[in-house]
Amino acid sequence: MAKIVIIGAGGVGNVVAKKCAQNAHIFTEIWLVSRDEAKCRVIADEIAKQYRVSLQTAAVNADDVQALTNLLQKIRPELVINVALPYQDLHIMDACLAAGVNYLDTANYEPPDEAHFEYSHQWAYQERFRDKGLMAVLGCGFDPGVTNVFCAHAQKHLFDSIESIDILDANAGDHGHPFATNFNPEINIREVTQVVRHWRDGKWLETPAILDEGAAHFSFDYPVVGPKESYLLYHEEMESLAKHIRGLKRIRFWMTFSENYLTHLKVLNNVGMTRIDPVHFNGQKIIPLQFLKALLPDPGGLGANYSGKTVIGCVFDGVKDGKRLKKYIYNVCDHAEAWREVQAQAVSYTTGVPTMIGAMMMLTGVWRGVGVFNVEQLDPDRFMNELSRCGLPWQTLDFTGYLPE
Ligand code: NDP
Repeated sequence: MAKIVIIGAGGVGNVVAKKCAQNAHIFTEIWLVSRDEAKCRVIADEIAKQYRVSLQTAAVNADDVQALTNLLQKIRPELVINVALPYQDLHIMDACLAAGVNYLDTANYEPPDEAHFEYSHQWAYQERFRDKGLMAVLGCGFDPGVTNVFCAHAQKHLFDSIESIDILDANAGDHGHPFATNFNPEINIREVTQVVRHWRDGKWLETPAILDEGAAHFSFDYPVVGPKESYLLYHEEMESLAKHIRGLKRIRFWMTFSENYLTHLKVLNNVGMTRIDPVHFNGQKIIPLQFLKALLPDPGGLGANYSGKTVIGCVFDGVKDGKRLKKYIYNVCDHAEAWREVQAQAVSYTTGVPTMIGAMMMLTGVWRGVGVFNVEQLDPDRFMNELSRCGLPWQTLDFTGYLPE
């Protein structure tokens, strides 16, 4: 039915490729491309054995817009799924425009020399995608992605108006390493060392970064895995949700971090290993965080011995038929089960499955439109059904737990 190109053969790319191969009646021709084609071949060989589906592979540097445009013009796919790094987003969007291809990603653009991410760079492509009659869907992993779909579902079915949203992300897993990140270490460490922002009464409020004195945290009682210390963090989906959820007065994002993770990160931060400016070393310039990434375990390879679960969801406080309600929608994902199915840990799995579902929504015409969209602007119903069918079942509860004011 449709030809796609997946860019990026890391932890998430592996899951997207395998989930697309499981749905080969929709994804009838799958290309997996990355700078290093050998990484793509490893995944393609596993898929050939597991699912008897044959993937095509190629090498391309997505930052070379002309080379990527040429490749897309040769392949002529209906959709590009970008699971490379946020640095590539704009280059891949440019190549999609030049080659006339629809676009989907999981993380918003971030300039390499500044650890600050916001949608303005990609929202600026609105007219260009509209003029070409193409669709771009931004942020379709789990958070952002499923969390946005949960918000669209709550807005459509559970509330007349939503006043406050708390997104809570717990990884209660154990990978057995003293210190590792669950997705690309460079992107992950840039994200968690930033000054924290949350949105209240139409304004962004700043609070200390998670490593700093005065960082906001509390113990949230997660389903299945129990109480876990959860830290206020800035996360990109808040920017689009603050804009698209009607009447919203407050949105916050909380993530669990263990004492062990924070202690390691604090030391690395204190000695300058998380810096993103170039330093001179042995006659050449290196970026300490990129060097640290080279030393840390590859997140894609953490899965084999990972035990425990992730629990990610949203608590909504709002009004329905004149009555005040609090609802909690969440998913629980097991690291070991994800490994058995697609040889990935649960963070790659919870990202890659929704990416495949978003692509399915676009290719089957359930999500239609021209221009640039965030996930909560699109209809959530079929997506929510597919989540349960494709390995990420969700639950809705009346919320009676504690959240700080
Ligand atoms: P990895 O580092 O494991 O993989 C990234 C892949 O991109 C690698 O295969 C790399 O391979 C490729 N790549 C990097 N630069 C280029 C380039 N210039 N051209 C072509 N390919 C390139 O990262 P993850 O799989 O962990 O994460 C992938 C994306 O998913 C990231 O953007 C991350 O932020 C996002 N993410 C989103 C989440 C969500 O819930 N929304 C959660 C987790 C991650 P090579 O070097 O061979 O080119």
